[in-house]
Order: sequence, then C-alpha cells, then structure tokens
Amino acid sequence: MPSKLKVFTELICAYPWLDDYIIDSSQCSNLLRVGKIQQNMKYTCQTILKVIGKLISNQYVSYCKLCDKKTFNSVEHVICFCTNNDAHRNRVLDAVYDVKGHDGFMSMMSLNSVQQCELLLQFVSESEGDELRYPCIAHTVATLCSSMWD
Ligand SMILES: [Zn+2]
Repeated sequence: MPSKLKVFTELICAYPWLDDYIIDSSQCSNLLRVGKIQQNMKYTCQTILKVIGKLISNQYVSYCKLCDKKTFNSVEHVICFCTNNDAHRNRVLDAVYDVKGHDGFMSMMSLNSVQQCELLLQFVSESEGDELRYPCIAHTVATLCSSMWD
C-alpha cells in the first residue's frame, strides 16, 4: 500500500494544477471545506470533486449516459464533446465568458480539450476564505457533469 504522501506527490507531479486548489498534503480540500460550511454548495462541491477524481483516475472505456457513445475519457466527453448536453455546456461557456472576459475565454478555447477540462475544474475549485471564487461557474459545471451519475 503506497503511503498517502507518495500518492499525493505522484498526483501533483502528474497534475500540477491540483496543487493549492484541490488537494493539499496538510489541509482539507477547498471543495470539501466549502461544501461542509455552505449547505447550498454541498452538491456542487461534491460533484466537482467526483469529476476531478474521475478525470485523474485511470481511464477506462465507458458509454455516455446521454448519447450512448463509447468514450475513453468520460469527463472530456461530457464537458467538451457530448452532443446531448449543448444547453448545459452553453451555460458553462457563457459563465466563463462573463467572468474571464473575451481574452480569457479565447485563451482557454485555444487549449486542447483535456487542458480545457483541467483549467475549468481548476478555477471552479478556487476559493476565497470559505467561499468558492466562482460559484456560478461551479454550479453550471456541476449541472453539466451530473449526467455522469444521475
Ligand atoms: Zn455523450
């Protein structure tokens, strides 16, 4: 059994964007803390944590619950490609555009699809004190991704 610290170190090496925002070797995750303190954010925070877990865990082939397509990365598929959740995706994109502005939005869109997912999950996990910095985007992302389980 690898130690927690070893697992943590390996995750940070593979996914440097997780550092500070989502997992921390000494503290509780931002998302867990905010979800515990703010009841109205509980579902959103838990969903985002599950999405991050799914993205960084070993990938395996699965079938999308919305469109039945075979996917090798269900998070990437649901956030970037599924054709049966365009309305939810548009809400996420509108929210990102509102917060990040034209240039921020365009620089995110210039990334590849996995990097877009990572960046999106990174900034919906950012917090200030006991609140998420972008709760509106976090809600839209949780709604978009909830089809993976509901
Ligand atoms: Zn799909």
